Amino acid sequence: MKLMNYVNGQWQDKPDAKYTAVLNPANGEELAQVPLSTAKEVDDAVLAAKAAQKKWAKVPAPKRADYLYEIGRLMKQKKEELAQVLTKEMGKVIEEARGEVQEGIDMAYYMAGEGRRLFGETTPSELADKFAMSVRAPIGVVGLITPWNFPVAIATWKSFPAIVAGNAFIWKPATETPMMAYEMAKIFEEAGLPPGVANVVFGSGSEVGTAMIEHPDVKVISFTGSTETGRKVAEAGGRNLKKVSLEMGGKNAVIVMEDANLELAVEGILWSAFGTAGQRCTACSRVIVHKDVKEALQNLLLEKTSVLTIGDGLDESVKVGPVINKGALEKIHSYIGIGQEEGATLLTGGKILEEAPHDKGHYYAPTIFTDVAPDMRIAQEEIFGPVISIIEVGSFEEAIEVNNSVIYGLSSSIYTADVNRVFKAQRDLDTGIVYINAGTTGAEIHLPFGGTKGTGNGHRDSGVAALDVFTEWKSVYVDFSGKLQRAQIDNDI
Ligand code: NAD
Repeated sequence: MKLMNYVNGQWQDKPDAKYTAVLNPANGEELAQVPLSTAKEVDDAVLAAKAAQKKWAKVPAPKRADYLYEIGRLMKQKKEELAQVLTKEMGKVIEEARGEVQEGIDMAYYMAGEGRRLFGETTPSELADKFAMSVRAPIGVVGLITPWNFPVAIATWKSFPAIVAGNAFIWKPATETPMMAYEMAKIFEEAGLPPGVANVVFGSGSEVGTAMIEHPDVKVISFTGSTETGRKVAEAGGRNLKKVSLEMGGKNAVIVMEDANLELAVEGILWSAFGTAGQRCTACSRVIVHKDVKEALQNLLLEKTSVLTIGDGLDESVKVGPVINKGALEKIHSYIGIGQEEGATLLTGGKILEEAPHDKGHYYAPTIFTDVAPDMRIAQEEIFGPVISIIEVGSFEEAIEVNNSVIYGLSSSIYTADVNRVFKAQRDLDTGIVYINAGTTGAEIHLPFGGTKGTGNGHRDSGVAALDVFTEWKSVYVDFSGKLQRAQIDNDI
Protein backbone atom coordinates (compact mmCIF):
# COMPACT_ATOMS: atom_id res chain seq x y z
CA MET A 1 0.00 0.00 0.00
CA LYS A 2 1.31 3.46 -0.93
CA LEU A 3 0.27 6.21 1.46
CA MET A 4 -0.65 9.63 0.08
CA ASN A 5 -0.52 13.11 1.54
CA TYR A 6 -3.92 14.57 2.37
CA VAL A 7 -3.96 18.24 1.34
CA ASN A 8 -6.91 20.52 0.70
CA GLY A 9 -9.30 17.58 1.03
CA GLN A 10 -7.48 15.71 -1.78
CA TRP A 11 -5.38 12.55 -1.71
CA GLN A 12 -2.19 13.44 -3.53
CA ASP A 13 -0.97 10.66 -5.76
CA LYS A 14 2.55 11.73 -6.75
CA PRO A 15 4.09 9.10 -9.04
CA ASP A 16 7.51 10.82 -8.94
CA ALA A 17 7.68 10.92 -5.10
CA LYS A 18 10.36 9.08 -3.16
CA TYR A 19 9.11 6.49 -0.67
CA THR A 20 10.41 4.58 2.33
CA ALA A 21 9.04 1.37 3.81
CA VAL A 22 6.99 1.20 7.01
CA LEU A 23 7.96 -1.99 8.85
CA ASN A 24 6.19 -3.92 11.60
CA PRO A 25 8.67 -3.93 14.51
CA ALA A 26 7.26 -7.24 15.73
CA ASN A 27 8.27 -9.24 12.64
CA GLY A 28 9.87 -7.00 10.02
CA GLU A 29 6.89 -7.31 7.65
CA GLU A 30 6.44 -4.38 5.25
CA LEU A 31 3.16 -2.64 6.03
CA ALA A 32 3.20 0.30 3.62
CA GLN A 33 5.30 2.73 1.64
CA VAL A 34 5.31 6.30 2.92
CA PRO A 35 6.19 9.27 0.69
CA LEU A 36 9.15 11.44 1.61
CA SER A 37 7.63 14.78 0.69
CA THR A 38 9.54 17.95 -0.11
CA ALA A 39 9.30 21.61 0.86
CA LYS A 40 7.14 22.13 -2.25
CA GLU A 41 4.41 19.88 -0.80
CA VAL A 42 4.60 21.83 2.45
CA ASP A 43 4.15 25.08 0.49
CA ASP A 44 1.07 23.67 -1.26
CA ALA A 45 -0.42 22.52 2.03
CA VAL A 46 0.20 25.87 3.72
CA LEU A 47 -1.41 27.72 0.82
CA ALA A 48 -4.51 25.51 1.05
CA ALA A 49 -4.62 25.75 4.85
CA LYS A 50 -4.31 29.53 4.76
CA ALA A 51 -7.29 29.90 2.44
CA ALA A 52 -9.38 27.38 4.38
CA GLN A 53 -8.57 28.89 7.76
CA LYS A 54 -9.99 32.29 6.83
CA LYS A 55 -13.42 30.69 6.36
CA TRP A 56 -13.02 28.20 9.21
CA ALA A 57 -12.35 30.97 11.72
CA LYS A 58 -15.77 32.45 10.85
CA VAL A 59 -17.64 29.21 11.51
CA PRO A 60 -19.14 29.53 15.03
CA ALA A 61 -17.10 27.49 17.53
CA PRO A 62 -20.06 25.23 18.52
CA LYS A 63 -20.44 24.35 14.82
CA ARG A 64 -16.70 23.65 14.54
CA ALA A 65 -17.15 21.41 17.56
CA ASP A 66 -19.81 19.38 15.73
CA TYR A 67 -17.08 18.08 13.42
CA LEU A 68 -15.12 16.92 16.47
CA TYR A 69 -18.17 15.06 17.81
CA GLU A 70 -18.36 13.31 14.45
CA ILE A 71 -14.61 12.57 14.45
CA GLY A 72 -14.99 11.12 17.98
CA ARG A 73 -17.94 8.99 16.87
CA LEU A 74 -16.01 7.63 13.87
CA MET A 75 -12.98 6.86 16.01
CA LYS A 76 -15.22 5.00 18.44
CA GLN A 77 -16.82 3.04 15.62
CA LYS A 78 -13.38 2.10 14.21
CA LYS A 79 -11.64 1.69 17.57
CA GLU A 80 -10.57 -1.93 17.12
CA GLU A 81 -9.44 -1.41 13.52
CA LEU A 82 -7.36 1.62 14.54
CA ALA A 83 -5.85 -0.21 17.51
CA GLN A 84 -4.77 -3.10 15.25
CA VAL A 85 -3.03 -0.71 12.84
CA LEU A 86 -1.37 1.05 15.78
CA THR A 87 0.01 -2.19 17.22
CA LYS A 88 1.26 -3.31 13.82
CA GLU A 89 3.17 -0.15 13.02
CA MET A 90 4.33 0.90 16.49
CA GLY A 91 4.55 -2.40 18.38
CA LYS A 92 2.75 -1.59 21.65
CA VAL A 93 0.54 -4.40 22.93
CA ILE A 94 -3.04 -4.35 21.69
CA GLU A 95 -4.56 -3.52 25.08
CA GLU A 96 -2.42 -0.38 25.27
CA ALA A 97 -3.19 0.45 21.62
CA ARG A 98 -6.91 0.33 22.43
CA GLY A 99 -6.21 2.64 25.37
CA GLU A 100 -4.37 5.06 23.12
CA VAL A 101 -7.22 5.20 20.62
CA GLN A 102 -9.62 5.74 23.53
CA GLU A 103 -7.48 8.70 24.58
CA GLY A 104 -8.09 10.21 21.13
CA ILE A 105 -11.84 9.59 21.41
CA ASP A 106 -11.91 11.21 24.85
CA MET A 107 -10.01 14.19 23.49
CA ALA A 108 -12.46 14.60 20.59
CA TYR A 109 -15.45 14.81 22.93
CA TYR A 110 -13.62 16.94 25.47
CA MET A 111 -12.46 19.50 22.90
CA ALA A 112 -15.88 19.42 21.20
CA GLY A 113 -17.29 20.57 24.56
CA GLU A 114 -14.86 23.50 24.43
CA GLY A 115 -16.75 24.71 21.35
CA ARG A 116 -19.47 25.91 23.75
CA ARG A 117 -16.99 27.33 26.24
CA LEU A 118 -13.73 28.79 24.85
CA PHE A 119 -14.14 31.14 27.79
CA GLY A 120 -12.68 34.60 27.78
CA GLU A 121 -13.08 37.15 30.57
CA THR A 122 -15.16 40.19 31.16
CA THR A 123 -13.85 42.68 33.65
CA PRO A 124 -14.87 46.18 34.77
CA SER A 125 -13.22 49.08 32.97
CA GLU A 126 -11.54 51.74 35.09
CA LEU A 127 -13.59 54.31 33.14
CA ALA A 128 -17.34 54.97 33.24
CA ASP A 129 -19.52 53.75 30.37
CA LYS A 130 -16.85 51.49 29.03
CA PHE A 131 -16.87 47.72 28.69
CA ALA A 132 -13.79 45.48 28.77
CA MET A 133 -13.34 41.86 27.80
CA SER A 134 -10.77 39.42 26.50
CA VAL A 135 -11.55 36.73 23.95
CA ARG A 136 -9.63 33.81 22.50
CA ALA A 137 -8.84 34.35 18.80
CA PRO A 138 -7.61 31.71 16.35
CA ILE A 139 -4.01 32.11 15.23
CA GLY A 140 -4.05 30.86 11.63
CA VAL A 141 -2.10 27.98 10.14
CA VAL A 142 -0.40 25.76 12.72
CA GLY A 143 2.21 23.04 12.25
CA LEU A 144 2.07 19.81 14.24
CA ILE A 145 5.13 17.54 14.49
CA THR A 146 4.60 14.24 16.31
CA PRO A 147 6.72 11.26 17.44
CA TRP A 148 6.22 7.55 16.75
CA ASN A 149 5.58 6.34 20.30
CA PHE A 150 2.00 7.69 20.58
CA PRO A 151 1.07 8.02 16.92
CA VAL A 152 -2.57 8.91 17.49
CA ALA A 153 -3.04 10.27 21.03
CA ILE A 154 -0.45 13.04 20.76
CA ALA A 155 -1.82 14.11 17.38
CA THR A 156 -5.30 14.45 18.90
CA TRP A 157 -3.93 16.50 21.83
CA LYS A 158 -2.71 18.98 19.23
CA SER A 159 -5.10 18.83 16.27
CA PHE A 160 -8.39 18.83 18.18
CA PRO A 161 -7.77 22.02 20.17
CA ALA A 162 -6.37 23.58 16.97
CA ILE A 163 -9.59 22.71 15.13
CA VAL A 164 -12.04 23.89 17.76
CA ALA A 165 -10.14 27.15 18.19
CA GLY A 166 -10.55 27.97 14.48
CA ASN A 167 -7.11 27.16 13.07
CA ALA A 168 -6.11 25.02 10.10
CA PHE A 169 -3.21 22.61 10.53
CA ILE A 170 -0.45 20.76 8.70
CA TRP A 171 0.47 17.56 10.52
CA LYS A 172 3.80 15.83 9.96
CA PRO A 173 3.78 12.44 11.69
CA ALA A 174 6.96 10.44 12.35
CA THR A 175 8.06 8.40 9.32
CA GLU A 176 8.07 5.24 11.47
CA THR A 177 4.31 5.52 12.16
CA PRO A 178 2.51 7.25 9.28
CA MET A 179 -0.35 4.74 9.05
CA MET A 180 -2.23 6.14 12.02
CA ALA A 181 -2.01 9.59 10.45
CA TYR A 182 -3.35 8.11 7.22
CA GLU A 183 -6.26 6.55 9.12
CA MET A 184 -6.95 9.84 10.89
CA ALA A 185 -6.89 11.74 7.57
CA LYS A 186 -9.55 9.32 6.29
CA ILE A 187 -11.61 10.09 9.39
CA PHE A 188 -11.21 13.86 8.88
CA GLU A 189 -12.47 13.38 5.33
CA GLU A 190 -15.37 11.14 6.38
CA ALA A 191 -16.37 13.60 9.10
CA GLY A 192 -16.74 16.23 6.37
CA LEU A 193 -14.17 18.65 7.73
CA PRO A 194 -13.92 21.44 5.12
CA PRO A 195 -11.00 20.93 2.68
CA GLY A 196 -7.77 22.53 3.83
CA VAL A 197 -8.58 22.63 7.55
CA ALA A 198 -6.75 19.35 8.22
CA ASN A 199 -3.71 18.48 6.11
CA VAL A 200 -1.28 15.59 6.51
CA VAL A 201 2.14 15.78 4.87
CA PHE A 202 4.43 12.76 5.25
CA GLY A 203 8.19 13.02 5.25
CA SER A 204 11.35 13.46 7.22
CA GLY A 205 11.91 15.93 10.02
CA SER A 206 14.83 17.52 8.26
CA GLU A 207 12.86 18.20 5.05
CA VAL A 208 9.15 18.49 5.89
CA GLY A 209 9.59 19.50 9.56
CA THR A 210 12.15 22.15 8.68
CA ALA A 211 10.01 23.50 5.82
CA MET A 212 7.08 23.89 8.21
CA ILE A 213 9.17 25.71 10.79
CA GLU A 214 10.75 28.00 8.23
CA HIS A 215 7.46 28.81 6.47
CA PRO A 216 6.38 32.41 7.23
CA ASP A 217 2.66 31.51 7.12
CA VAL A 218 2.90 28.77 9.76
CA LYS A 219 2.40 30.75 12.95
CA VAL A 220 2.63 28.02 15.60
CA ILE A 221 4.71 24.87 15.82
CA SER A 222 3.52 22.29 18.31
CA PHE A 223 6.23 19.66 18.62
CA THR A 224 6.55 16.45 20.60
CA GLY A 225 9.76 14.44 20.39
CA SER A 226 13.24 14.22 21.81
CA THR A 227 14.92 17.08 23.63
CA GLU A 228 17.69 17.04 21.04
CA THR A 229 15.27 17.66 18.16
CA GLY A 230 13.16 20.04 20.24
CA ARG A 231 16.17 22.26 20.71
CA LYS A 232 16.62 22.52 16.93
CA VAL A 233 12.90 23.25 16.50
CA ALA A 234 13.10 25.96 19.16
CA GLU A 235 16.15 27.56 17.56
CA ALA A 236 14.61 27.70 14.09
CA GLY A 237 11.22 28.70 15.50
CA GLY A 238 12.80 31.46 17.56
CA ARG A 239 14.61 32.85 14.53
CA ASN A 240 11.29 32.95 12.69
CA LEU A 241 9.45 34.50 15.69
CA LYS A 242 7.02 31.63 15.95
CA LYS A 243 5.12 30.42 18.94
CA VAL A 244 6.76 27.05 19.64
CA SER A 245 5.29 24.52 22.05
CA LEU A 246 7.69 21.74 22.97
CA GLU A 247 6.99 18.44 24.74
CA MET A 248 10.22 16.48 25.01
CA GLY A 249 12.09 13.72 26.81
CA GLY A 250 11.87 12.38 30.33
CA LYS A 251 13.82 10.48 32.99
CA ASN A 252 11.01 9.63 35.33
CA ALA A 253 11.27 8.02 38.74
CA VAL A 254 9.13 6.04 41.13
CA ILE A 255 10.06 6.67 44.77
CA VAL A 256 9.33 3.80 47.17
CA MET A 257 9.45 4.73 50.86
CA GLU A 258 9.86 2.25 53.73
CA ASP A 259 6.14 2.51 54.62
CA ALA A 260 4.93 1.77 51.07
CA ASN A 261 2.71 -1.11 50.02
CA LEU A 262 5.43 -2.97 48.12
CA GLU A 263 3.14 -5.21 46.08
CA LEU A 264 1.32 -2.13 44.81
CA ALA A 265 4.59 -0.31 44.12
CA VAL A 266 5.93 -3.24 42.10
CA GLU A 267 2.78 -3.37 39.97
CA GLY A 268 3.10 0.37 39.29
CA ILE A 269 6.80 0.10 38.45
CA LEU A 270 6.33 -2.82 36.05
CA TRP A 271 3.47 -1.09 34.25
CA SER A 272 5.34 2.21 34.01
CA ALA A 273 8.74 0.77 33.12
CA PHE A 274 7.98 -2.10 30.76
CA GLY A 275 4.63 -1.03 29.26
CA THR A 276 5.11 0.16 25.64
CA ALA A 277 8.51 -1.56 26.05
CA GLY A 278 9.69 1.45 28.04
CA GLN A 279 9.12 3.80 25.11
CA ARG A 280 6.82 6.27 26.81
CA CYS A 281 7.96 9.79 27.57
CA THR A 282 6.56 9.12 31.07
CA ALA A 283 8.20 5.69 31.41
CA CYS A 284 9.67 4.90 34.82
CA SER A 285 13.39 4.42 34.28
CA ARG A 286 14.57 5.08 37.85
CA VAL A 287 13.36 3.45 41.06
CA ILE A 288 14.44 5.44 44.09
CA VAL A 289 14.01 3.16 47.08
CA HIS A 290 14.48 3.53 50.83
CA LYS A 291 17.34 1.33 52.07
CA ASP A 292 15.07 -0.53 54.55
CA VAL A 293 12.96 -2.02 51.75
CA LYS A 294 15.45 -2.15 48.90
CA GLU A 295 16.15 -5.89 49.17
CA ALA A 296 12.48 -6.80 49.44
CA LEU A 297 11.46 -4.55 46.54
CA GLN A 298 14.27 -5.85 44.35
CA ASN A 299 13.28 -9.47 44.98
CA LEU A 300 9.64 -8.80 44.19
CA LEU A 301 10.56 -6.90 41.03
CA LEU A 302 12.80 -9.72 39.84
CA GLU A 303 10.13 -12.32 40.51
CA LYS A 304 7.45 -10.41 38.57
CA THR A 305 9.78 -9.42 35.73
CA SER A 306 10.78 -13.04 35.14
CA VAL A 307 7.21 -14.01 34.17
CA LEU A 308 6.53 -11.14 31.73
CA THR A 309 5.62 -12.46 28.28
CA ILE A 310 7.47 -10.76 25.41
CA GLY A 311 6.32 -10.91 21.82
CA ASP A 312 4.06 -9.58 19.09
CA GLY A 313 1.63 -7.11 20.67
CA LEU A 314 -1.27 -8.52 18.65
CA ASP A 315 -1.13 -11.61 20.87
CA GLU A 316 -3.47 -10.73 23.77
CA SER A 317 -1.32 -12.68 26.26
CA VAL A 318 1.82 -10.63 25.56
CA LYS A 319 2.80 -7.97 28.11
CA VAL A 320 5.90 -6.46 26.48
CA GLY A 321 6.06 -5.78 22.73
CA PRO A 322 9.03 -4.95 20.50
CA VAL A 323 10.95 -1.67 20.41
CA ILE A 324 10.51 0.48 17.33
CA ASN A 325 13.55 -0.45 15.21
CA LYS A 326 17.09 -1.76 15.07
CA GLY A 327 18.56 1.65 15.92
CA ALA A 328 16.53 1.77 19.13
CA LEU A 329 17.60 -1.76 20.02
CA GLU A 330 21.26 -0.82 19.59
CA LYS A 331 20.89 2.41 21.56
CA ILE A 332 19.25 0.56 24.47
CA HIS A 333 21.88 -2.17 24.41
CA SER A 334 24.73 0.37 24.43
CA TYR A 335 23.54 1.52 27.87
CA ILE A 336 24.17 -1.96 29.32
CA GLY A 337 27.90 -1.60 28.78
CA ILE A 338 27.79 2.01 29.98
CA GLY A 339 26.00 0.98 33.20
CA GLN A 340 28.40 -1.88 33.90
CA GLU A 341 31.45 0.28 33.26
CA GLU A 342 30.07 2.83 35.70
CA GLY A 343 29.83 0.13 38.38
CA ALA A 344 26.10 -0.69 38.39
CA THR A 345 25.03 -4.32 38.90
CA LEU A 346 22.92 -5.94 36.19
CA LEU A 347 20.22 -7.96 37.96
CA THR A 348 18.35 -9.25 34.94
CA GLY A 349 17.96 -8.69 31.19
CA GLY A 350 20.59 -6.66 29.39
CA LYS A 351 20.21 -8.52 26.13
CA ILE A 352 18.67 -8.38 22.67
CA LEU A 353 16.35 -11.37 22.15
CA GLU A 354 17.56 -13.01 18.97
CA GLU A 355 16.18 -16.54 19.17
CA ALA A 356 12.83 -17.66 17.71
CA PRO A 357 10.07 -16.51 18.19
CA HIS A 358 11.85 -13.16 18.63
CA ASP A 359 14.33 -13.43 15.77
CA LYS A 360 12.33 -11.47 13.18
CA GLY A 361 11.47 -8.44 15.35
CA HIS A 362 13.22 -5.97 17.64
CA TYR A 363 12.84 -7.36 21.15
CA TYR A 364 14.75 -6.36 24.26
CA ALA A 365 14.70 -8.26 27.54
CA PRO A 366 13.22 -6.24 30.43
CA THR A 367 16.28 -5.07 32.30
CA ILE A 368 16.99 -4.10 35.91
CA PHE A 369 20.17 -2.47 37.17
CA THR A 370 20.81 -2.03 40.87
CA ASP A 371 23.46 -0.24 42.99
CA VAL A 372 23.05 2.72 40.67
CA ALA A 373 24.42 6.09 41.76
CA PRO A 374 22.24 9.12 40.93
CA ASP A 375 24.91 10.71 38.75
CA MET A 376 25.60 7.67 36.54
CA ARG A 377 24.64 8.09 32.90
CA ILE A 378 22.06 5.28 33.15
CA ALA A 379 20.37 7.33 35.90
CA GLN A 380 20.57 10.61 34.02
CA GLU A 381 19.98 9.96 30.30
CA GLU A 382 16.79 8.93 28.53
CA ILE A 383 17.33 5.33 27.36
CA PHE A 384 13.79 4.91 25.92
CA GLY A 385 13.62 1.17 26.39
CA PRO A 386 12.67 -1.40 29.05
CA VAL A 387 15.48 -0.57 31.48
CA ILE A 388 15.21 0.40 35.17
CA SER A 389 17.93 1.70 37.46
CA ILE A 390 17.46 1.10 41.19
CA ILE A 391 18.94 3.84 43.37
CA GLU A 392 19.07 3.43 47.15
CA VAL A 393 18.40 6.40 49.46
CA GLY A 394 18.38 6.85 53.23
CA SER A 395 15.59 9.40 53.68
CA PHE A 396 12.56 11.09 52.14
CA GLU A 397 14.53 14.31 51.61
CA GLU A 398 17.27 12.45 49.77
CA ALA A 399 14.66 10.72 47.58
CA ILE A 400 13.24 14.08 46.50
CA GLU A 401 16.71 15.44 45.80
CA VAL A 402 17.64 12.42 43.68
CA ASN A 403 14.36 12.64 41.79
CA ASN A 404 15.02 16.29 40.96
CA SER A 405 18.68 15.78 40.00
CA VAL A 406 18.05 15.14 36.28
CA ILE A 407 17.77 17.62 33.41
CA TYR A 408 14.21 16.44 32.64
CA GLY A 409 10.99 17.16 34.52
CA LEU A 410 8.07 15.20 33.11
CA SER A 411 6.60 12.72 35.61
CA SER A 412 7.34 11.44 39.10
CA SER A 413 5.68 9.11 41.57
CA ILE A 414 5.89 8.27 45.25
CA TYR A 415 4.59 5.27 47.17
CA THR A 416 4.07 6.05 50.84
CA ALA A 417 1.35 5.80 53.48
CA ASP A 418 2.38 9.04 55.21
CA VAL A 419 0.01 11.91 54.43
CA ASN A 420 2.56 14.55 55.39
CA ARG A 421 5.07 13.10 52.92
CA VAL A 422 2.35 13.00 50.24
CA PHE A 423 1.77 16.73 50.49
CA LYS A 424 5.47 17.56 50.76
CA ALA A 425 6.18 15.38 47.71
CA GLN A 426 3.51 16.94 45.50
CA ARG A 427 4.98 20.32 46.40
CA ASP A 428 8.69 19.47 46.10
CA LEU A 429 8.90 17.06 43.16
CA ASP A 430 9.86 19.38 40.30
CA THR A 431 8.04 17.58 37.46
CA GLY A 432 4.98 18.66 35.47
CA ILE A 433 3.09 15.54 36.58
CA VAL A 434 3.15 13.87 40.03
CA TYR A 435 1.51 10.58 41.00
CA ILE A 436 0.86 9.41 44.54
CA ASN A 437 0.65 5.64 45.04
CA ALA A 438 0.50 5.08 41.28
CA GLY A 439 3.23 4.67 38.63
CA THR A 440 4.59 7.45 36.41
CA THR A 441 2.08 6.93 33.59
CA GLY A 442 -1.68 7.29 33.32
CA ALA A 443 -2.40 10.85 32.26
CA GLU A 444 -6.05 11.79 31.74
CA ILE A 445 -6.89 14.08 28.83
CA HIS A 446 -8.71 16.81 30.76
CA LEU A 447 -5.60 17.72 32.77
CA PRO A 448 -2.58 19.59 31.38
CA PHE A 449 0.20 17.33 30.10
CA GLY A 450 3.81 18.40 29.95
CA GLY A 451 7.00 18.92 31.84
CA THR A 452 9.49 21.30 33.32
CA LYS A 453 13.22 21.86 32.71
CA GLY A 454 14.56 19.93 29.66
CA THR A 455 11.14 18.38 29.03
CA GLY A 456 9.26 21.48 27.97
CA ASN A 457 9.25 25.20 27.36
CA GLY A 458 6.29 26.20 29.50
CA HIS A 459 3.41 25.11 27.27
CA ARG A 460 1.07 22.18 27.85
CA ASP A 461 -0.71 19.67 25.65
CA SER A 462 -4.11 18.33 26.67
CA GLY A 463 -6.62 19.93 29.05
CA VAL A 464 -7.85 23.50 28.62
CA ALA A 465 -4.20 24.59 28.75
CA ALA A 466 -3.79 23.26 25.19
CA LEU A 467 -6.03 26.10 23.98
CA ASP A 468 -3.37 28.57 25.09
CA VAL A 469 -1.06 27.15 22.42
CA PHE A 470 -3.64 27.53 19.64
CA THR A 471 -5.24 30.87 20.48
CA GLU A 472 -4.18 34.47 20.91
CA TRP A 473 -5.69 36.57 23.64
CA LYS A 474 -7.46 39.61 22.23
CA SER A 475 -8.49 42.41 24.61
CA VAL A 476 -11.54 44.36 23.48
CA TYR A 477 -12.62 47.75 24.91
CA VAL A 478 -16.04 49.20 24.08
CA ASP A 479 -16.49 52.84 25.03
CA PHE A 480 -20.15 53.83 25.08
CA SER A 481 -19.69 57.19 26.80
CA GLY A 482 -19.77 59.19 23.55
CA LYS A 483 -16.71 61.21 24.56
CA LEU A 484 -12.94 60.80 24.66
CA GLN A 485 -11.98 58.99 27.85
CA ARG A 486 -8.29 58.47 28.48
CA ALA A 487 -7.20 55.45 30.51
CA GLN A 488 -4.90 56.26 33.45
CA ILE A 489 -5.57 60.00 32.93
CA ASP A 490 -9.32 60.71 33.06
CA ASN A 491 -10.12 58.47 35.97
CA ASP A 492 -10.10 60.71 39.05
CA ILE A 493 -12.70 59.59 41.58
P1 NAD B 1 12.32 12.70 17.46
O1 NAD B 1 12.73 13.96 18.13
O2 NAD B 1 13.36 11.90 16.77
O3 NAD B 1 11.19 13.00 16.37
C1 NAD B 1 9.98 13.63 16.68
C2 NAD B 1 9.40 14.25 15.42
O4 NAD B 1 10.26 15.31 15.01
C3 NAD B 1 9.31 13.29 14.23
O5 NAD B 1 8.14 13.56 13.50
C4 NAD B 1 10.54 13.66 13.42
O6 NAD B 1 10.43 13.35 12.05
C5 NAD B 1 10.59 15.16 13.64
N1 NAD B 1 11.90 15.78 13.41
C6 NAD B 1 13.12 15.20 13.45
N2 NAD B 1 14.08 16.13 13.16
C7 NAD B 1 13.44 17.29 12.94
C8 NAD B 1 13.88 18.60 12.61
N3 NAD B 1 15.17 18.91 12.46
N4 NAD B 1 12.95 19.57 12.46
C9 NAD B 1 11.64 19.29 12.64
N5 NAD B 1 11.17 18.08 12.94
C10 NAD B 1 12.06 17.08 13.11
O7 NAD B 1 11.56 11.83 18.57
P2 NAD B 1 11.00 10.35 18.45
O8 NAD B 1 12.14 9.40 18.45
O9 NAD B 1 10.01 10.28 17.33
O10 NAD B 1 10.17 10.22 19.81
C11 NAD B 1 10.73 9.86 21.02
C12 NAD B 1 11.00 11.07 21.88
O11 NAD B 1 9.80 11.81 22.08
C13 NAD B 1 11.46 10.71 23.29
O12 NAD B 1 12.50 11.58 23.67
C14 NAD B 1 10.22 10.93 24.15
O13 NAD B 1 10.48 11.17 25.50
C15 NAD B 1 9.62 12.10 23.46
N6 NAD B 1 8.19 12.22 23.78
C16 NAD B 1 7.79 13.24 24.60
C17 NAD B 1 6.46 13.36 24.97
C18 NAD B 1 5.98 14.48 25.86
O14 NAD B 1 4.78 14.78 25.83
N7 NAD B 1 6.84 15.11 26.65
C19 NAD B 1 5.53 12.43 24.49
C20 NAD B 1 5.98 11.40 23.65
C21 NAD B 1 7.31 11.32 23.30
